[in-house]
Amino acid sequence: MDTAPLKIVFYPHPALRHQSKPIKRVDADLKRIIREMFTLMYEANGIGLAANQVNLPFRLFVINLAAVPDEGEELVFLNPVLSKPKGSEEYEEGCLSLPQLYAPVLRPKQVMVQAYNLRGEEISTSLDGMLARVVQHEYDHLEGVLFTDRVKASALDEVQPALDSFTSEFDRLRQQGEIPSDEQIAQRLQQWEQKYC
Ligand code: ZN
Repeated sequence: MDTAPLKIVFYPHPALRHQSKPIKRVDADLKRIIREMFTLMYEANGIGLAANQVNLPFRLFVINLAAVPDEGEELVFLNPVLSKPKGSEEYEEGCLSLPQLYAPVLRPKQVMVQAYNLRGEEISTSLDGMLARVVQHEYDHLEGVLFTDRVKASALDEVQPALDSFTSEFDRLRQQGEIPSDEQIAQRLQQWEQKYC
């Protein structure tokens, strides 16, 4: 089992396209992973981070709209399910796996989320505003979907050059041996799945 410190992976890392599996158990190691996810999210000035973004195949994401520790509320969503989308609103989004790239994304304004928190309690609540948007963005990650997939065709011309440069950088790092092969990445994800899913 690869227990190296977690790192945020960048587009087009294959873990970002992985369809995550439900978590069947929570242990001390998984709690430590979740703590590490919050730390990485704060270091990157983010407000949400999904397991895929740290190269893990779990249906799990963390959010703190305040983006800093000791402020706001730290929210952990395990095995989230979304339902009852209502309305629609366009708003600019960014993503820690696509640094410095921002584009407007149309999403439902309100959504219902059911999930479990770290204490194993069921959360079932209707969301709107920023939290509704962030939860939907993070949920997409668990399905292997990125916000750039939802950018409308007319805005894609502005986004594509940034995506191309992320891809060249990824290819460069891989040629240098700093990123494992697709097979190695898939194998690692499978090992984590066998442990928790
Ligand atoms: Zn994201």
